Amino acid sequence: MAGRNFLFVPGPTNVPDRVLRSMVVAMEDHRSSRFPELTRALFPDMRRVFQCTEGEVFVFPSTGTGAWEAALTNTLSPGDQVLAPRYGQFSHLWIDMMQRLGLEVQVLDVEWGEGAPADRIGEILRADRAHRIKGVMIVHNETATGVTSDIGAVRRAMDGARHPALLYVDAVSSLGSLEFRMSEWKVDLAVTGSQKGLMLPAGLGIVCASPRALAATKQAKCKRVFFDFADMRRANADGYFPYTPALPLLYGLRTSLEMLFEEGLEQVYARHRRLAAGVREAVVAWGLRTCAREARWHSDTVTAVMVPPETNGAQVIDVAFRRYNLALGAGLSKMAGKLFRIGHLGDLNELMLLGALAGTEMAMADVGIRVEPGSGVAAAQQYWRSAPVQTRRVAPPKAVMA
Ligand code: PLP
Repeated sequence: MAGRNFLFVPGPTNVPDRVLRSMVVAMEDHRSSRFPELTRALFPDMRRVFQCTEGEVFVFPSTGTGAWEAALTNTLSPGDQVLAPRYGQFSHLWIDMMQRLGLEVQVLDVEWGEGAPADRIGEILRADRAHRIKGVMIVHNETATGVTSDIGAVRRAMDGARHPALLYVDAVSSLGSLEFRMSEWKVDLAVTGSQKGLMLPAGLGIVCASPRALAATKQAKCKRVFFDFADMRRANADGYFPYTPALPLLYGLRTSLEMLFEEGLEQVYARHRRLAAGVREAVVAWGLRTCAREARWHSDTVTAVMVPPETNGAQVIDVAFRRYNLALGAGLSKMAGKLFRIGHLGDLNELMLLGALAGTEMAMADVGIRVEPGSGVAAAQQYWRSAPVQTRRVAPPKAVMA
């Protein structure tokens, strides 16, 4: 099909040309004396993206799923109790992993479309006087339902209960896009993957561990080999890895970090907030609703749009892809057919999103969903025009300056 594929799934996201170019490198010796020149700065720079003042970053050749496993196995022992709310497919899969690793998971089922219930978490922790619960597991941004949880509120609930459990946060579809303040929220283990806010292909699983998490590794008895923090720390101390690293991805990461810092993290968060708000205006104009049940749960990286009951969201996705070269995210598990998802994270601007909204409108109309052509596009435009970017400085054209 002619023209570019419009990639609007919530990961993998568009890889900027600058990042792509930086990954086209000849292979090199990862044990050379020059190699640490590339790697050494990646760790403190990644820490900056996590907004972590004290702690350590681990970069595995893996994905978000591997980073989940690394966080769990390095800090817990089989039979340890953990508390995990479940409100979407990714919290479900993480819980499944915990159970398969032999952890005793207290699952807190929440309606899909809502986020982590800080109050209930606080109550459960207060009742756990013996402090048997070792970890609280939160998916910051549930990509399956387009719901963002309030990590600060969960931390306040934990502190209010004076409970010493470690706080584990899945930041796979939030880091580098949504506000993430690891030290301020006293997150102990934060995990992410490379293919979302970091604007890279999949292939890196990244964990940031607090000093408390690092201390917990000494007692943790879960079996680990490939993901052992201790092996990584030893090798990373000199800028090396315990095995062959994913070299082009490390060059890509160097560039994507540069791009995030050039724009400024606060501006990156503001851009995502603004773009997401425009998408939500489009959903309202279509007469549809988001899976997120209240405004406080709205995700600024992915919008899950509920389709009318008599229609199938999978059909919208298929038509969008085959006729209009537009990739939208599918409804997962319980939500299959009930919704489609528009990913709006990473390297993205208003005009790219307007193209995606136009394609979505066409695909919806084609499968018989009653939407006014252009209504969502107009609503998003109106929003973006009336809410000018505060954070970006625009230089006047040369002719004006002369
Ligand atoms: N957690 C969340 C919130 C995700 O969105 C995903 C993937 O989309 C994962 C975990 C799993 O990550 P990966 O597919 O990189 O293993």
